[in-house]
Amino acid sequence: MTIAVIGSNMVDLISYVHRMPAEGETVEAPEFRMGCGGKGANQAVAASRLGSEVVMVSRVGNDVFAETTLKNFEDNGISTTHVLRTEATSGVAPIFVDPDSHNSIIIVKGANALLTPQDVEAAREDIARCRLIVLQLEIPLETVYAAIDLGRELGIPVLLNPAPASPELDLARIAGVEFLVPNESELELLTGMPVSSLEDITRATDVLLSAGITNVIVTLGSRGALWAHADGQEFVDAPAVQAIDTTGAGDAFIGCFSNAWVRSGDVLEAIRAGSAYASDSVTRPGTQTSYAWAADLPARRD
Ligand code: ATP
Repeated sequence: MTIAVIGSNMVDLISYVHRMPAEGETVEAPEFRMGCGGKGANQAVAASRLGSEVVMVSRVGNDVFAETTLKNFEDNGISTTHVLRTEATSGVAPIFVDPDSHNSIIIVKGANALLTPQDVEAAREDIARCRLIVLQLEIPLETVYAAIDLGRELGIPVLLNPAPASPELDLARIAGVEFLVPNESELELLTGMPVSSLEDITRATDVLLSAGITNVIVTLGSRGALWAHADGQEFVDAPAVQAIDTTGAGDAFIGCFSNAWVRSGDVLEAIRAGSAYASDSVTRPGTQTSYAWAADLPARRD
């Protein structure tokens, strides 16, 4: 089953510091790690590790980070035919983490900001073979809209993860999307409505359904996820786990949901799978490093 992920890739550059540097100060970090990330890449990796054939449409720069990212896609079995090299820096995220796990993050979008509607068009033939197009907002909005339009033209369902939250996202341009998967704060920004109770969340998802979205799936951290659709709503609990690092949990959910949905077409079943997979990922450190492969998955716990 093939999935097209049209989105970002980043290399995380993580320095573990004793304390955050003050302005103008230099501090030494006793430990440093590099990791592959970016919302698009994370979701692609999760889906591919679970057995989907994944086509990635993305841009890397002309630097050493491009090699790291391309090798990571290849190691995870992801097609890189449409991962284009660009005369720019790659997307990178310098991250500082202190002993209390507080972090400061700088996102340098680099080549991700240069992914164009033409790049999507150039991948049309391969996208046309896919059962699902998966999008996030770490690439230009015009490119996101072009991918939604192409999905509509080809009759391929689109999943949009409106993250990071963007005040510029135009609801009218995303009407017709099959799955919109925000977390609570993204839902709040998208609708301008409060989300502090389940009733609030339901009112906000109603607005999105009225705007022409077929399914709204709100991820709610340790509480699980809420699926709102024309005929009602379902709540799916997250399995209780000992969470040690929730970074990238939303991407794990989406990658696993996508893999499960293209196989079965059963939304509730796919949400249960996504929830179990994401909850498992928060029990291990890191982002992609915390994503299980199909062969490692414990028996279903839902
Ligand atoms: P991130 O930005 O860290 O990737 P997110 O805000 O997009 O995350 P969340 O709603 O926090 O996404 O989490 C996505 C899914 O991960 C949840 O629906 C749930 O299944 C699982 N999850 C997250 N945190 C926990 C936790 N503490 N315990 C169990 N499951 C969790």
